[in-house]
Amino acid sequence: MTSTYDVIIIGAGIVGAMTARFLSQFRLRVLLIDKDSDVGMGASSANSALVHAGYDALPGTHKALTNLRAVEMWPRLSQDLGIPYDRCGDYVVAVNDEELAALQDLYQRGLANGVPGIALISGEAMRQREPLIRPDAIGALWAPTGGMGDPFAATVAAAENAVMNGVELQLNTAFESFMMEGGTITGVRTSRGDFPCRWVVNAAGLYADDVMHAAGVRPEFHIRPRRGEYVILDKADFQLTQPTILFPTPTEKGKGILVASTLHGNVIVGPNANFVDSKENKDVTREGIQEIWSGGSKLVPAISRRHIIAEFAGLRATGNAPTPNPEIDYNQDFIIEIPDSVKGLVNLGGIESPGFTAAPAIAERVIELLRGAGEHLEKKADWNPVRTPRPVFRHLDRDEQAALIADDPAYGRIICRCENVTEGEIRAEIHASIPAVTYDALKRRTWLGTGRCQGGFDMPRVVAILAEELGVAPEAVTKKGQGSQFLFRRTKDVAHDHLSVEDLIPTM
Ligand SMILES: Cc1cc2nc3c(=O)[nH]c(=O)nc-3n(C[C@H](O)[C@H](O)[C@H](O)COP(=O)(O)OP(=O)(O)OC[C@H]3O[C@@H](n4cnc5c(N)ncnc54)[C@H](O)[C@@H]3O)c2cc1C
Repeated sequence: MTSTYDVIIIGAGIVGAMTARFLSQFRLRVLLIDKDSDVGMGASSANSALVHAGYDALPGTHKALTNLRAVEMWPRLSQDLGIPYDRCGDYVVAVNDEELAALQDLYQRGLANGVPGIALISGEAMRQREPLIRPDAIGALWAPTGGMGDPFAATVAAAENAVMNGVELQLNTAFESFMMEGGTITGVRTSRGDFPCRWVVNAAGLYADDVMHAAGVRPEFHIRPRRGEYVILDKADFQLTQPTILFPTPTEKGKGILVASTLHGNVIVGPNANFVDSKENKDVTREGIQEIWSGGSKLVPAISRRHIIAEFAGLRATGNAPTPNPEIDYNQDFIIEIPDSVKGLVNLGGIESPGFTAAPAIAERVIELLRGAGEHLEKKADWNPVRTPRPVFRHLDRDEQAALIADDPAYGRIICRCENVTEGEIRAEIHASIPAVTYDALKRRTWLGTGRCQGGFDMPRVVAILAEELGVAPEAVTKKGQGSQFLFRRTKDVAHDHLSVEDLIPTM
């Protein structure tokens, strides 16, 4: 058994990673664990990637308060962590009088929440700003502080910054149960052994209910996974007039199917919102695609199915925590608390949308809760909030690219042609402070394999690079961890041992 941690965080999604990052400013011994092979493989890896303005949540709820606070935090955070963020603003569009009345309610809610700059605009003004909007739009709610983020980059960057500042990270480590003495948590039992600690932060996303139940907390609280399916359009084929976010008027099912730009230059259409039985069921269904396509093409009739290059689904951790208005199903609130019934647990639960947006503010709340519980949190003199991003070849100008290649010729070899990702970037991610050791981990960090060919060109080369850098056989390289190998046996009897990555890259 290792010596005692001050805090163990269960779950390295955006909430756990941000919590680790903010806790790393104090003299605390912190351990961040996740059951998966990388950070950010849960809900944080499959969502709309929006930094919501904050008009949607009911006033006074944790959702509303953390959303609004986080919108203030994101500009500085994106600078400090070296991650992209575009405050492009968003629109909620109405097409009939009933929807216009609903927009009024949303507007009032936005005012009550303190959302800066929101305004109701006419259908004409909406069409001027985005001519591709459906022609019968009669009004819209405009929120200038809505924006686009990158949950993959944000989770990795927050976790890296935490690790830089002394947080320990253990992946492939599943929480199993609590060590307890009387009513006090004294540690966690995991698939990798026992870890004593004074505090546990439950940031387990879809499994947060199981974690709190293991401590005897809120036995009535259950998370029902609510799936959202999406399609991505080829950036070469379709763009909105300018980067923006278009929502329909929300319904009792949620915010509705949006059409929005992404920070990577594509247009995204989705999500729907359907309860599913399994917390692992991220299947994309024919009916689901039809549902989102019908919603998306109503909002922006110019989208065409021919432009779809990818589809995916994510699962919302929808809980049944009480809300001021239980009639509105999607407005169940976040749980952010230190429960009375047990000592040593900061309990987070039901962190569905806007959980990506709110994550930094949830992390701040965790700190306030710890202080409120009597923790003396002493700041480190040498805390470094800045995490320097690694070079992204396609974002550099010609001179910068040439300098990079002169320094390391691997930056001169393009491995992913659709997204222009170089071998140098891939190798750098494999050797980063949180090493990317699977194909999907590299995809989330570099954006390789996300273009029109969806990995058809780069995948064999990336497998070869991973094998070389990790010193393993290509058959051992996985897509996303144990059990997801690409290759099972050699089909040709050739001596591979002398082949290098360069041999696999055609000369251009
Ligand atoms: C379809 C959809 C659209 C969304 N759109 C938006 C949006 O546009 N804007 C927005 O703000 N929010 C959005 N959200 C919500 C947002 O994605 C989530 O609120 C956020 O990602 C939650 O982060 P998290 O860290 O709590 O959970 P997760 O990212 O799921 O992380 C939880 C982590 O806990 C780990 N874990 C679970 N059990 C264990 C265990 N036993 N031991 C160890 N580790 C464990 C998991 O492996 C996982 O990595 C959307 C969500 C969905 C599904």
